[in-house]
Amino acid sequence: MEKLKPLSDSFWLVDSVNRHLQSTPQLPTASEVVVIGGGISGVSVAYWLSGLGVEVVLLERQGLAEGATGRNGGHLAPGTNKDFADAIATHGLEETLAIWHLTQNVVELVHQFIEQHQVDCDLHFNSLASLALTPLEVEQQRRSFELMQEAGLDVQFWDKEEAIGHTGSSRFLGGLLYKEHAQVWAAKLVGAIARVAMQNGANIQTGTSVGAVEQSQSGLIVRTPRGEIRAKFVVHATNAYVRHLRPVLKDLIIPVRGQVMVTEPVPPLWNFDWITNHGYEYCLQRPDGRIVLGGMRWRSPTHEWNIEDDRQIEPAVSEGLRTFLPDHFEALRNVQIGQEWTGIMGFSPDDNPLVGELPGYPGEYIIAGYSGHGMPIAFGAGRAIAQLITGQQPQLPLAFSSARLEQLK
Ligand SMILES: Cc1cc2nc3c(=O)[nH]c(=O)nc-3n(C[C@H](O)[C@H](O)[C@H](O)COP(=O)(O)OP(=O)(O)OC[C@H]3O[C@@H](n4cnc5c(N)ncnc54)[C@H](O)[C@@H]3O)c2cc1C
Repeated sequence: MEKLKPLSDSFWLVDSVNRHLQSTPQLPTASEVVVIGGGISGVSVAYWLSGLGVEVVLLERQGLAEGATGRNGGHLAPGTNKDFADAIATHGLEETLAIWHLTQNVVELVHQFIEQHQVDCDLHFNSLASLALTPLEVEQQRRSFELMQEAGLDVQFWDKEEAIGHTGSSRFLGGLLYKEHAQVWAAKLVGAIARVAMQNGANIQTGTSVGAVEQSQSGLIVRTPRGEIRAKFVVHATNAYVRHLRPVLKDLIIPVRGQVMVTEPVPPLWNFDWITNHGYEYCLQRPDGRIVLGGMRWRSPTHEWNIEDDRQIEPAVSEGLRTFLPDHFEALRNVQIGQEWTGIMGFSPDDNPLVGELPGYPGEYIIAGYSGHGMPIAFGAGRAIAQLITGQQPQLPLAFSSARLEQLK
């Protein structure tokens, strides 16, 4: 008999309010816009649209933030998904800087929202260190550092001695320190964005799974077990699951399972958050002393590709996560582990999200595929979708445009 794997239990979902919302007992039968998905992407679209006075219904099959958003690593890190030098090689300097600046602006936009609405979601500004475990990683960092300096970005390079001094671990051979970075409790943020959207008039309906979106002569029909809604526009904000409603995206947004664990509180260790192993592992210490560490999916034979089940954790990944901190930090030799959980990311072939109209499906829009780095993008991408729907021209990097769908195939 197959041994049952341990259950996935996200720290961020235990204590988050506003997860189950139904603005009206019944679904409306029509709405100008229907947004599908209640993670950071979906609630952002609903927030910006409702702020513009547009009629919008948001449908979420579970509770708000119960997808990737409530299961992530807690980093709100501006920047490109690839390291800076690789990003320039792929996109060129201008586009790389466009992505960089967009993510900086989105972090500032999130900050302003939190201040304006007095949201309690543990937003905490910190630096981010990218720590090198191998000489190859040091060389890549040195190359990126030089290019970032030339581009006027605020970054520091650490040699081995400095890395040891800053981290308290002799295992790291160097590092890059980015000054702009934050931690955020994303599930709490999503609950707050949804509440403000509701105050603006958005109709939020959790516990409502969309089974189909149909194109008809008179517009779009969104089918759910609670009834159907006729809409002029539909926004697919279902991220890793978008292939179920639009199979055309099956090979363009792939579900990839990530895993995270949290420790019991320990005394403060670092005055920065960090990533290592080319970003595969990501770590932060919360103000309450708990350390949140994610990654290690490379330890699974499949690298956790094409997996949609976030109810269980993967033992091989779990072992990697549990041993990493004691193996790298003397002070954490006996650290106690709290919860462990998984979540499903949506990966695109070039690691950039798809944001905009869905080619071939009039009236349908997509906002998905952040490839594990959605927090510093989604709030701004949501605004871009609202602008497109209301006939405005958003400022989005070309690298994020849904128009590239054909090229990606
Ligand atoms: C383990 C892990 C660690 C991560 N760490 C970080 C990090 O530290 N920093 C960072 O920037 N990013 C991180 N990410 C990525 C980030 O969390 C995502 O990019 C972001 O949350 C995506 O938000 P979303 O709203 O697009 O998708 P999701 O949050 O996945 O929301 C999609 C929603 O759609 C709903 N849905 C699906 N199908 C239907 C349907 N048919 N009908 C109705 N609803 C439906 C789902 O239930 C889900 O709630 C991480 C992700 C994971 C999984």
